Amino acid sequence: MIEIKHLAKTFSNHEIFSDINLTVNTGEILAIIGPSGSGKSTLLRCLNLLEQPDQGEVTIGDSHFTAPHISKKQAVKIRQESTMVFQQFNLFRQKTAWQNVAENLVTVKKIAKTAAKERALVELDKVGLSEYANFYPGQLSGGQKQRVAIARSLATDSKILLLDEPTSALDSELVGEVLTTLKSVVEEHPDYTVILVSHELEFVKEVATQVIFFEDGQIVESGQPKDVLSHPQETQTQRFLSRFT
Ligand code: ATP
Ligand code: MG
Repeated sequence: MIEIKHLAKTFSNHEIFSDINLTVNTGEILAIIGPSGSGKSTLLRCLNLLEQPDQGEVTIGDSHFTAPHISKKQAVKIRQESTMVFQQFNLFRQKTAWQNVAENLVTVKKIAKTAAKERALVELDKVGLSEYANFYPGQLSGGQKQRVAIARSLATDSKILLLDEPTSALDSELVGEVLTTLKSVVEEHPDYTVILVSHELEFVKEVATQVIFFEDGQIVESGQPKDVLSHPQETQTQRFLSRFT
């Protein structure tokens, strides 16, 4: 589970959010929608300490921190609790698909290379990329690259998945294959806790258990997908959603 209390982040003099409170229970999939620049990525990045939060308390799985005083040891533990899939894939260009998936296993988990490769091949098979194990990112389509990134997340064995607009960098014809992959991942792992930033509203309706509309660093509206997406109560949510129709 993920529990966020009074989370605050300011960049220089720019307050991104000042009091985020949110709970995502194990097995839940929280979708975050909201305009560009509203702080969605910053929120996810504060959870795994890719950004340093200024204030607030976060519990992720078995780890906990209270910002801003986070020890190195706590930070290492927090980072191991979750795994993130980024909009831009973030693969190593000079490593093959299987090497990208195995990288964390070898360097962080200290698993022997042969065992790590075996595991990587299993995860690549799950995302339908067995035949591409020896391909470099430059030889893969955007959708394939993102599926490698998903396989890499699966290989970490983390039960907390942070997905930051996993399809927004893809050409429209490649979006479907990644969404199908993600759908099978969450269906096969009902014990995962997921936060998904995405504007694929049909997909959000299908998989999310909870949706929040986020604007200017505030949770404007939250609830079940069928309510927030089909019958938004707040004018800001209505205005945002009207762009998608
Ligand atoms: P998008 O939908 O475009 O991805 P977002 O909701 O994810 O937007 P963020 O990336 O969280 O928005 O950015 C929120 C604000 O924080 C923006 O104004 C951005 O310029 C600012 N910001 C993000 N990262 C940094 C940084 N490292 N230094 C300074 N400002 C930053
Ligand atoms: Mg973002």
